[in-house]
Amino acid sequence: MTPDNFTTFIYCWIILAIAVFIMLMFITAPYGRHTKQTWGPLVDNKTGWIVMEVFVLVVLFWFVFNGKNPQSFVNQIIIAFFAFHYLNRSIVFPFRLRTKGKKMPVVIMLMGMFFNLVNGFIIGYYLGNFKIYDDAWMRSVPFISGTIIFFAGMIINWWSDTTLINLRKKGDTGYQIPEGRWFHYVSCPNLMGEMIEWGGFAILTWSLPGLAFFIWTFCNLVPRAVSHHRWYKEKFKNYPAERKAIIPFIV
Ligand code: NDP
Repeated sequence: MTPDNFTTFIYCWIILAIAVFIMLMFITAPYGRHTKQTWGPLVDNKTGWIVMEVFVLVVLFWFVFNGKNPQSFVNQIIIAFFAFHYLNRSIVFPFRLRTKGKKMPVVIMLMGMFFNLVNGFIIGYYLGNFKIYDDAWMRSVPFISGTIIFFAGMIINWWSDTTLINLRKKGDTGYQIPEGRWFHYVSCPNLMGEMIEWGGFAILTWSLPGLAFFIWTFCNLVPRAVSHHRWYKEKFKNYPAERKAIIPFIV
């Protein structure tokens, strides 16, 4: 693929993200608390998460190691950041879930898988063929600030996911009002943390592929958080009125 074709592909991918964002403002993706029986065959929730997420690493490494670029030290650090996130998401996170007996539609699993595979391809192909970050990049403002933002987002995401998972005893599948730290400001700090994380990744790579990934994350997670927030307010009459969905004091 030429650099021009690759860039055009990413712009098309971003346009698709915006179309998906508009669609998700009207149709709530049916998994988790919004799961539905009307979206075709279902798959066990844990299996769905693993299948949806795990192949991104295969695709990433395949394109990185089959590309023509030698992988500089900084390229390897960036790959390690990305892989670190996906090791948690595809292997650790699904086994921590307390969603025994819950299912998600196969079509959602396949759509999530498609999203992840394309993103893995874009990042892997970019690092494998087009971009070699030199050592000086590690001392640059974008790399340092982006790395801080990336890990701050990851900590918020992990802490909030853990808080939500621990709201249930083993075997329980009900819902409670989450409290503490960032839940004081927003209903979905786990989704907020994920957005911050990929915002940081876009900054630390200072790249169109990084930006595209951030835009996709935003387009997926803002509508999901708005749906969660609406659902909380309908389910719990005593839900804190001042809490927003995903961006403190704003959305
Ligand atoms: P949710 O907040 O909906 O759920 C996280 C887990 O906590 C689920 O097991 C859920 O159970 C449980 N849970 C949530 N709220 C409560 C509650 N009030 N009481 C009891 N249990 C609760 O997160 P998502 O499923 O939307 O996402 C999971 C992770 O995946 C997040 O970290 C998110 O950032 C990430 N993600 C990233 C995307 C991206 O585009 N990069 C896209 C989608 C997700 P149940 O499933 O039964 O509702």
